[in-house]
Amino acid sequence: MDTLRIAIVGGGVGGLAAAIALSKSGHKVTVFEQAATFSRVGADINLTPNVVKALDGLGAGQTIRKLGAMPTYRISRDWDTSLETSRLGMSQVAEQHYGAPQVTIHRADIIHALAELFPIEHIQFSKRLCHLEQHASGIDLSFEDSTQQQFDVVIGADGIHSRVRSALFGEESPRFTGIVSFRSVVPTERVQHVPEIDAFTKWWGPVPQQQIVTFPLNQGKDTFIFATTGQESWTEESWTSEGDVNELRAFYKDFHADARALLDACDTTLKSALYERDPLQNWSVGCVTLLGDACHPMLPFMAQGAGMAIEDAVVLGRCLVSVSSHTDIERALQVYELTRQERTAKIQLGSRGNQWMKQQGNADWVYQYDAWQTELANTSNA
Ligand SMILES: Cc1cc2nc3c(=O)[nH]c(=O)nc-3n(C[C@H](O)[C@H](O)[C@H](O)COP(=O)(O)OP(=O)(O)OC[C@H]3O[C@@H](n4cnc5c(N)ncnc54)[C@H](O)[C@@H]3O)c2cc1C
Repeated sequence: MDTLRIAIVGGGVGGLAAAIALSKSGHKVTVFEQAATFSRVGADINLTPNVVKALDGLGAGQTIRKLGAMPTYRISRDWDTSLETSRLGMSQVAEQHYGAPQVTIHRADIIHALAELFPIEHIQFSKRLCHLEQHASGIDLSFEDSTQQQFDVVIGADGIHSRVRSALFGEESPRFTGIVSFRSVVPTERVQHVPEIDAFTKWWGPVPQQQIVTFPLNQGKDTFIFATTGQESWTEESWTSEGDVNELRAFYKDFHADARALLDACDTTLKSALYERDPLQNWSVGCVTLLGDACHPMLPFMAQGAGMAIEDAVVLGRCLVSVSSHTDIERALQVYELTRQERTAKIQLGSRGNQWMKQQGNADWVYQYDAWQTELANTSNA
């Protein structure tokens, strides 16, 4: 076999990025997505320079710059005094220092930017994976509609409740963190009086679970407000559940007036409980592996969940260049997971700790990373 038949289960941010990267590496890629079509669900997302660099190499960089916004700074403030505790230059400063800016954008716009780079006829919608089985001849995938298809390599990019992960390593549910998030979008003209509304600003609360983050969207026309707080009694995970703006305001009633002004401007809010898992020790079995939330779902406190999925995709594509035999596939997947494991685990645990850039510090180890250039692991020492 010269060209590998690769199946990607899940057409989210990570799955589509992997589809482009693996096609660039010369393989025949099919994406299976359980939804009937791409729809506008999910969070507004902060893509840091390391991620924009990865997207530039995939060819999606210009589209995301056009659809998103580029915050001027990344600022941390104390919740009650508004005292600034850290500031990083973004936009042009990040472009010069890291080779790419920070871009804030709706998840659906990232999907759009990626989907236009991959042939739609190679995406099979309404295809929910139920089961997979590896044989010497390939991997059989079975779908809810009772169909089966066979591939040489399977990538589980099917999110936090990954079927592929449980087929490889057994059932184990993600853990509710006891934290809930509220998400609202308001026209920027309503909050124009809040200082530096064109920056990415994080108001650090009195406890690590509590914070308010704001950033610009849609070329600055809108402002995204993302607030988290501890609430053990509410476990609804859906990204489309309505929240109550009065409850939202009550949680942050003691915050600084500028932070409260942002919440006062919200007409509606969406509320979701936040879940995570511990770092996974092995990601691959035979010719099947995982990427993105399927292997390392994390809290959003370093804003790196989608970013890590996109970086995984680029590195996976690099590992599978010129690979064609069964033994080579297994070795390439080992190189992929060894190259990615340490970084993703550090960011997963760092997100749980929630101290990232609270004080002035060096962000280079996260933002400087280049998935196109990073050295691939040497498995002969592993
Ligand atoms: C509130 C919140 C805020 C966030 N903020 C940020 C941020 O600022 N920056 C950032 O980088 N990340 C952020 N994230 C994280 C980010 O959204 C996720 O890490 C990212 O979406 C993971 O991408 P993925 O492709 O791995 O999984 P997903 O986006 O979950 O995609 C998985 C896909 O697989 C499909 N699927 C699932 N099961 C099956 C099946 N059995 N068969 C076929 N298809 C299936 C799903 O329908 C879906 O399309 C945030 C997350 C949350 C909850």
